[in-house]
Amino acid sequence: MVFLVFCLTLCAAAAVHRTQGSREHLDRVILITIDTLRADHLPFYGYPRDTAPFLSALAERSAVFDLALSASSHTSPSHGSLFTSMYPYQHGLLSNWEDLPEGIPTMAQAFRDRDFKTAGFTSVGFLSGLKSGFETFSPPGRAGDGRGEATVQRTISWLNEQGHNERFLLWVHLFDVHGWKQRRSSYTGFPDINRHVDGYVRNRYTAGELDFAHNAGWPVNRVLDAYDGRILYVDRILSRLFDVVGKRFPQENTLWIITSDHGEGLANHLYLGHGMHLYQEQLHVPLLFYFADGSHAGKRIGVPMRLIDILPTLADLAGLAPDGDLKGTSLVPVLSNPEKDFVHYSFAQRRPADRRKRATWIPMCAIQEGLVKFIYRADGVTEHYNLFDDPYERTNLFLQTDRKDIPLRDTLRTLYQEAQKMQENRPRMKSSEERIHELRSLGYIQ
Ligand SMILES: [Zn+2]
Repeated sequence: MVFLVFCLTLCAAAAVHRTQGSREHLDRVILITIDTLRADHLPFYGYPRDTAPFLSALAERSAVFDLALSASSHTSPSHGSLFTSMYPYQHGLLSNWEDLPEGIPTMAQAFRDRDFKTAGFTSVGFLSGLKSGFETFSPPGRAGDGRGEATVQRTISWLNEQGHNERFLLWVHLFDVHGWKQRRSSYTGFPDINRHVDGYVRNRYTAGELDFAHNAGWPVNRVLDAYDGRILYVDRILSRLFDVVGKRFPQENTLWIITSDHGEGLANHLYLGHGMHLYQEQLHVPLLFYFADGSHAGKRIGVPMRLIDILPTLADLAGLAPDGDLKGTSLVPVLSNPEKDFVHYSFAQRRPADRRKRATWIPMCAIQEGLVKFIYRADGVTEHYNLFDDPYERTNLFLQTDRKDIPLRDTLRTLYQEAQKMQENRPRMKSSEERIHELRSLGYIQ
């Protein structure tokens, strides 16, 4: 009887904890960022090729966000927004190699403050600027092996040191897809079987884009083989990591979040890359929430949302109390009811110019609300797209209509001016060149 009363007291205490501290109980959050992965090259976003058998199977058991938007087409600023729930001009980390300014609260700090262990494993050194709040932070070592296999191996070594009931936030960053243009023997292109892209190419590419790719020495079929081959590689190593976690830790209180920092232009808009543009191929990223206990499985959430919404969502789910002025909004209501309204604009900005090949990159930003989108450049050039009729952003409506007083465009202008003002007033950051010199002098790079 005493034992029963003891149990009831414990259960009541746990129930109070759940209702007060969190709507659901989480012990482990595993956040995977697959660098440079655009959503529409995954089968569960409609791509005709099976680039990701493991992720596709996982997506069927997950809540999948159909329209997740990044705040930047550049690696560090976008990860900065994911970790702070602020837009780049608000958190102040605008280029790779920079540090997140001191005093900006992060997701890792919020987990650490709730007694979770926090560990980050990256495949590039320049994300070290985001290590704030991670008790364990592991970039590639001196050998500079940034392949996903090496990053996952370091992650598994850390996991094997943890107790079976350990509570943690684990971030794993994989860079393989980013390097699709490099020819390395450790990667293969997409296998010849199951090609299935001819119809996709006909629909997705204009004659001008096909010519551009050909003249750039990257015919589109070769681009797709190289890019998709890297996705397949990452899919395989993620499957291995998933198996290790599944065998070592109880599953019921574990959440996997799989996303990317930005996409990639694959000759779309006559561009092979990401940092220069803010089109959907750069900003639309995959996002799935896999709750290992099966909750929310099979849900598709169609409302546009932002990577800055992830931290407020985790705060809700794990009972965190993050410091700072979060600009995102919790997705818990739409996870529970995918039909629920979630109307927020998504803002994004281009990386700043530098002294080298990006010297001509004038400030550019974008805003999207629903399927209406504007892109605005410092020289006054404005683009306006209706993504419902024109998902590939081919017809600039701004040139075709006299109606220029659309409120969303005015919001973008205001945000642009705010961003410019904040950037002008921010403390001078170390340039890439200075940082590289510093790392070289420390012996971290050759
Ligand atoms: Zn990136």
